[in-house]
Amino acid sequence: LPAILLSHISKSYGSGEGKIDALRDINLEIAKGEFLALCGPSGSGKSTLLNIMSGIDQPTSGTVMFLNKLLHVLPEEELSMVRGKHLGFIFQFFNLIPVLNVFDNVFYPLILNGHFGKKEAHERARDLLYRVGLDGFANRKPGQLSGGQQQRVAIARALAHDPAVVIADEPTGNLDMATGEAILELLLHINQQTKTTFIISTHSAQLKERARRVVEIKDGGLVYDSRA
Ligand code: ADP
Ligand code: ADP
Repeated sequence: LPAILLSHISKSYGSGEGKIDALRDINLEIAKGEFLALCGPSGSGKSTLLNIMSGIDQPTSGTVMFLNKLLHVLPEEELSMVRGKHLGFIFQFFNLIPVLNVFDNVFYPLILNGHFGKKEAHERARDLLYRVGLDGFANRKPGQLSGGQQQRVAIARALAHDPAVVIADEPTGNLDMATGEAILELLLHINQQTKTTFIISTHSAQLKERARRVVEIKDGGLVYDSRA
C-alpha cells in the first residue's frame, strides 16, 4: 500500500484569460519509507503539489489517496484529524511561534492535536529535541537561534507525533550550504531510523544527489521520475 497515490491531479487558479494551470495531469505513487526530492524551477507547481498531497489545498480534478484515505472526500474535521495524526510539515521559513520557547514550540502542538496526554507529550518533546541536537536549547526563544537551529526545532515539531509522512517545502532554501547539508543529513538519518516517508521540494543539488528518488516537474507537468 503506498503512502500517497496521486491520480490525474490537475489544479487551475482563476478563470478565463487569467487562468493558470498550476498542475497538469500528475500521476505519482509514493511508497512508504521513501525519501523523495521534488525538483523543478520556481513557479513549476511544487508547493501546489505538496499542498494537495497534504490536503491543505484541493485539486481542480483528480484524486489523492493519503494512507488509503481519499483526501478530497473527507469532511474537514476528519481531514484535520488525519493530518494531525499522520502528517508532519516543514516550511522554508520555519514557522515557529516566536513567543514560545523551543520546548513549547514542540510540546504544545502535541497537546493541541489531542492524541497525547501531557506527560507523553513532554517526553516526546524532550526526546525529539535531543534527537535533533537541541537538548541544551529548550528554554531559548526561536529568535535567539540560528536559522539551522530553528529548522531543527521545526523538524522536531514535525516528527514529534511520529507521523507516517513528512512533507517539507524547501526546508534548506533559507539556509547556507553547510547548514543545509547538516539539515539534509539529519532528515536522511531520521528516514533511515524511522522509515518515515519524506517528500521534499528543493533547489538543492546536494539534496537531489542524496535523495533515493528524484521527481521533477516543469510548467505543472511531471517531466522526470528516477523510479519510472
Ligand atoms: P513552485 O512551488 O514550484 O514555485 P507554485 O506551486 O508556488 O510553484 O506555483 C505554481 C503556479 O501557480 C505559479 O504560476 C503560481 O504563480 C501559481 N499560483 C500558486 N498559488 C496561487 C494562488 N493561490 N493563486 C493564483 N496562482 C497561484
Ligand atoms: P506544569 O505541569 O507545571 O505545567 P510541565 O512539566 O508541563 O509543568 O512543563 C512546564 C513548562 O516547563 C513547559 O511548558 C516548558 O516550558 C518547561 N519545560 C518542561 N520540560 C522541559 C525541559 N525538559 N527542558 C526545558 N524546558 C522544559
